[in-house]
Amino acid sequence: MDWEEFPRWGRKVADWSAEYHGTLRDRPVRAPLEPGATLHALPEAPPEAPEPMEAIWDDFERIVMPGITHWQHPRFFAYFNSNAAPASVLAEYLAATIAPQCMLWQTSPAATEMETRMMEWLAEAVGLPGDFRGVIQDSASSATLAAVLTMRERALGWAGNAQGLPGQAPLRIYCSAEVHSSIDRAIWVAGIGQDNLVKLPVQGALRAMDTYALERAIEQDRAEGMLPAGIVACTGATGMGACDDIAAVCEVARKHGLYVHVDAAWAGTAMLCPEFRTLWAGVDQADSVVFNPHKWMGAQFDCSAHFLRAPEDLTRTLAIQPEYLKTHGADGVVNYSEWSIPLGRRFRALKLWFLIRLHGLAGLREMLRNHVRWSQDLCERLRAAPGFEIVTEPVLSLFTFRLAGEDADARTLTLLQRINDDGRIYLTQTKIDGQLVIRFQAGQFCAEARDFDTAFETITELAEGI
Ligand SMILES: *Cc1c(COP(=O)(O)O)cnc(C)c1O
Repeated sequence: MDWEEFPRWGRKVADWSAEYHGTLRDRPVRAPLEPGATLHALPEAPPEAPEPMEAIWDDFERIVMPGITHWQHPRFFAYFNSNAAPASVLAEYLAATIAPQCMLWQTSPAATEMETRMMEWLAEAVGLPGDFRGVIQDSASSATLAAVLTMRERALGWAGNAQGLPGQAPLRIYCSAEVHSSIDRAIWVAGIGQDNLVKLPVQGALRAMDTYALERAIEQDRAEGMLPAGIVACTGATGMGACDDIAAVCEVARKHGLYVHVDAAWAGTAMLCPEFRTLWAGVDQADSVVFNPHKWMGAQFDCSAHFLRAPEDLTRTLAIQPEYLKTHGADGVVNYSEWSIPLGRRFRALKLWFLIRLHGLAGLREMLRNHVRWSQDLCERLRAAPGFEIVTEPVLSLFTFRLAGEDADARTLTLLQRINDDGRIYLTQTKIDGQLVIRFQAGQFCAEARDFDTAFETITELAEGI
């Protein structure tokens, strides 16, 4: 295909996209497919001869679409949403067309400078103080890995990259038992080892890390010759939305000279609304904070906002300058590849710019508040419905529930399976203190109040007779 032929297909994609979104409400949310169905529909060998675009397009509809779980469905209430607002899709299309590599300032000055400005906009929008600097990472997992590597290097006096870990005192990282699995993985990849990730007990309705236990663990580890390096705190963890007391965590960290990274991958977007900021009170004292505009905020995947109080610690950990990457004569510019693990970087700031301008912060706040309110209303309706039990109260738009009574785990699982086979809504499960619960969370850009009515009807209808 040449670029002359491109517009015809580009228009077709645009028309198809509008039609797809316009009919999403009528489709089942989750793909009702057997494992292997797509694989078997795809030829085992690649084509030797070129094929016409028409054939590829037909197969896209025939083979791919039946196997898609509709993440943009207004009744997607599973996991956390991964929104792709139309404004951000347009920006992605443009970024894919220009396809610049944004690793150094000089490899696309506009991309670097727009990234700087967008991170300033976001920091202000979520109420972070002005001394935080931001970078867009591909994912929260990468941001957390970068933060854990920084903890490691800082604690080792910047010797880890050069000398490796053998011969060093064991590093210790602390977090609560509620954190996302990406923290465990960062610990593995950083060479620190799962045994040195200390998972502290949680307490209270928000299942916050016990900071007395934290302090005792740090002191005990030090006494045993180990090297406490940092704390990963969470605001809105994935299971039930656990929130650590960030102020208390930072106080312990300051006393012991530890680095604090806050994982607010999902909940960070909610901080656009000042009334939700109590959930991460004290965040201004943290060293590193990540949240995902690619979740609730609508900038399609991938787009993680990573804020740092002292980016020099991060660049001292990650920057590497072989001769071919030196930018002679352009001193004083930011080279964001020194802030992240991959060298190559997409032009991600563009979709934030389109999105924030098109909706305005007020438009985004209104959406967030609707989701929270509708979700909390649904929680009340389920609480009042016979046979249901609310297990954890709403944290923003996330709560968990189960069937009350005997054999609750098995019956709740049956309900969940019925719901997801039914297809009107999509929900997922987690465990709270060993008991199986169903998570409900809302955050889809196009969700409306009536979708929550459908959720209530579906859940109560399918629970009958279990
Ligand atoms: C989604 C999520 C992550 C992982 O985000 P990625 O960007 O997919 O790496 C980490 N932590 C929490 C709390 C999350 O909700």
